[in-house]
Amino acid sequence: MEMSVSGGVRPNFDAILPARDDLRPLHICWFLHNHCNHRCSYCHESNWSGSFRWVDFAQVKAFVEQVKAHYGDRQILVSFTGGEPTLWPDFEKCVQYLTDSGIEIGMTSNGAKPIEFFERIAEKFSWISLSFHPEFTRPDKFLSLVNYLSGVVPISVRIMLPTEEKLWRRSMEFRENLERSFSENRIRGRVQIEMVKTVSGFGTVNTAPIVYAAEQEAELLKFPSRELSREGSIKPPYASVLGEYVTHQNGDATSAMLRVNDLVESHQVNFQNWICNIGLEQLFVGADGFVFRSGCGVGSRLGRLGHRISFPTKPVRCWKSYCHCATDIAVSKISPEWVKNPSRDSSFANRELLSGASTYERLLFKFYDSLQREIFELETSQRDRSLRGRVRGIYLLLKRFWLTLQWSSRWSS
Ligand code: SF4
Ligand code: SF4
Repeated sequence: MEMSVSGGVRPNFDAILPARDDLRPLHICWFLHNHCNHRCSYCHESNWSGSFRWVDFAQVKAFVEQVKAHYGDRQILVSFTGGEPTLWPDFEKCVQYLTDSGIEIGMTSNGAKPIEFFERIAEKFSWISLSFHPEFTRPDKFLSLVNYLSGVVPISVRIMLPTEEKLWRRSMEFRENLERSFSENRIRGRVQIEMVKTVSGFGTVNTAPIVYAAEQEAELLKFPSRELSREGSIKPPYASVLGEYVTHQNGDATSAMLRVNDLVESHQVNFQNWICNIGLEQLFVGADGFVFRSGCGVGSRLGRLGHRISFPTKPVRCWKSYCHCATDIAVSKISPEWVKNPSRDSSFANRELLSGASTYERLLFKFYDSLQREIFELETSQRDRSLRGRVRGIYLLLKRFWLTLQWSSRWSS
């Protein structure tokens, strides 16, 4: 049986910052809807139940116009996820609209739609992540799709790793098959393989890593995430989102290219108390149309599709002990140690968040943090329809109203 642990471990570096000053694209992680043709056992029901109505295309367009007005000349990248994003009836229309508007797009898909569907849209994408789910994915059809897409668009293949032995084996066999197909020239382009450990409570306040058996950890060390590339093939996916960020050591001046998968595999994703640029470099749109800084839940809600959005202008202090999403990890962030060192560049950070704050302010931060946790939990949990559940819901709703007032006066400029 799988077990979760409470959080990640502290990273062995002090900051994640862009490699170049001029490169700060805005990345919108868009959870388009929660309909899916699969029911993966490691996936929370809220990701596939179809409990939300399809997103309204007119509202999508209005939101994009607001983003462009607020973030000015910044390059905008949109990553679609879900649910299975390609199931949305207006998906192709939306792809056309975004690319016509000069926005770069990418998506994560389970690849279940027919290849003809991907042939119609693939060239409009800057990257596509295909997820292999051992319970449902048909390996042969999936491999044909990998072959086609790898010649057209940068792709990564995310191989999910459930702890259950039978499923684990299927995923590892698929990996072997993929590597063999590549070496036998049955896959023409470049493929980035991502071995993805599953988490428990995905998308809820209790998202936590899962404990794998020692033999599985050992096998993963032998077959980690890697890239299969041919000379002259197209650049890897996420180049502008992930590839241009570096990690820094505070003790000396060295820096290294950010390798998100390595951090996840070694659990070095506990950024609690770090200052994080989420909301400034990345936004998250949920299946219910609510807009957040990120799916991690840190920072208050920014608004809803169809309404005016209060875009943030300042970073946040992280209160989570596990940062679970690859693109969240890549967002610029600096540790308390980094902030305290006067010789370091922390120009984007709000220094008072950590240093120089009075005891009263520190207590207030803690209070806000605990309220945020409760609210996020309420928003992501199944609703309890008993009388006690409803009373608790109303109580938390009032708290949310109060918090929104306090929080927006504190953080909005
Ligand atoms: S394909 Fe993705 S969204 Fe669908 S059930 Fe599996 S993990 Fe969840
Ligand atoms: S993205 Fe969220 S969880 Fe990750 S470091 Fe930033 S605030 Fe924390």
